[in-house]
Amino acid sequence: MFCLVDCNSFYASCEQVFRPDLRNKPVVVLSNNDCFIVARSAQAKAMGIGDLQTIFEIKSWMQQQQVTIFSSNYSLYGDLSARVMETLRLFSSQVEIYSIDEMFLYLDDTSDSRASDSMNHYGHQIKNTILKHTAMPVSVGIAPTKTLAKLANRAAKTIAKCQGVCVLDTAEKWDWMKKRTPVNKIWGISSRFSARLAELNIYTALELANADPKYIRRYFNICVERIVEELNGRACLSLEEIPAVKKQIYCSRSFANKSTHLPSILNAVSLYVARACEKLRAQQSFCRSLQVLLYSANYESSYHSRHQVIQLPYPCDDTRLISNIARTAIQHLFKPGVAYIKAGVGLLDLSAKKQQQLDMFHSGQSAKTDQLMAVVDRINSTHGKNSIYIAAEGVHKKWAMRQAYRSPSYTSRWSELPEIVC
Ligand SMILES: [Mg+2]
Repeated sequence: MFCLVDCNSFYASCEQVFRPDLRNKPVVVLSNNDCFIVARSAQAKAMGIGDLQTIFEIKSWMQQQQVTIFSSNYSLYGDLSARVMETLRLFSSQVEIYSIDEMFLYLDDTSDSRASDSMNHYGHQIKNTILKHTAMPVSVGIAPTKTLAKLANRAAKTIAKCQGVCVLDTAEKWDWMKKRTPVNKIWGISSRFSARLAELNIYTALELANADPKYIRRYFNICVERIVEELNGRACLSLEEIPAVKKQIYCSRSFANKSTHLPSILNAVSLYVARACEKLRAQQSFCRSLQVLLYSANYESSYHSRHQVIQLPYPCDDTRLISNIARTAIQHLFKPGVAYIKAGVGLLDLSAKKQQQLDMFHSGQSAKTDQLMAVVDRINSTHGKNSIYIAAEGVHKKWAMRQAYRSPSYTSRWSELPEIVC
């Protein structure tokens, strides 16, 4: 059986973990630069606050209604996610981290007599243990395929009687749920596909499950055919225990304010390179080329979006080298007098560090650079992000994005540990 564990309103719940006074209260979390609402607690949803609503539209109304607003705090969310995942490993050795707040587990149903009742009991045990260890509320869906486990999780979340756990282990139960699920709520069915399914008079998951898989394959593709099979309890998707290696790594952000100041933009780009290179090293890849992007605030201007792709002298993961090249590119793209709002970098043409084609004319990245980068990463992971950084990033990051409502990084920064007064 597949089990999908999904954290409820994850970002909002993370903010409530160290603020018990805010539990069962309306809480919203904003996107980067404090622009849109990207997460809402159940109480905020019940008040009618919409997803992706812009903050300036409803800020004063939310303050009147005593809704607590947070800027996004990804170091907190990443750390709490790792704790939830760690706890889940107590329940199964076969796990797939699907996203920051979702994990699939494989529960071996042949090893013991896990009938429906005991599966349900096991689901509650998972839910309660995570709540006890991490204070994170989760929903648990259990079913014979990953697609049905997603449906079970939806039931666990939306049907009060389930109390956060739903087991869909018989055709009767999953048909009941499929009848009540519109096709656009099925995992893997995009809005474009659901519009095309409507042309075939297929509106619910049950109608899709009853369609001829071969016909669906001809009309759509093999992925939709697999969804039909999975909806009928025939598992086609297996657990992906090893996360796929990224083929490109991008880091781009908006500035707090429009900027005409080249040195600030250069600092920002150096920081983005450092972040992207950290991820590159974490997955043990080298990159061969680099894309640098710069966006102006003037949408009508031909300078609105400019970019350049540069071939690196040799495949590498050296923050210093890539940062220097990115800075030179920005100097070419920058036009004095134009106000810029956003910059970014992309590391492209990635390959495994261990399988490099040797170059007759260049010895490639030195062992000394390897060691230096490893030390930088170790210091930053032990002592907190940005404990050590290249000087090109600048010391005072005035261009950094707006985070007016950021909570402390309770678990990942020594200076922001929660304090208890006795
Ligand atoms: Mg979630």
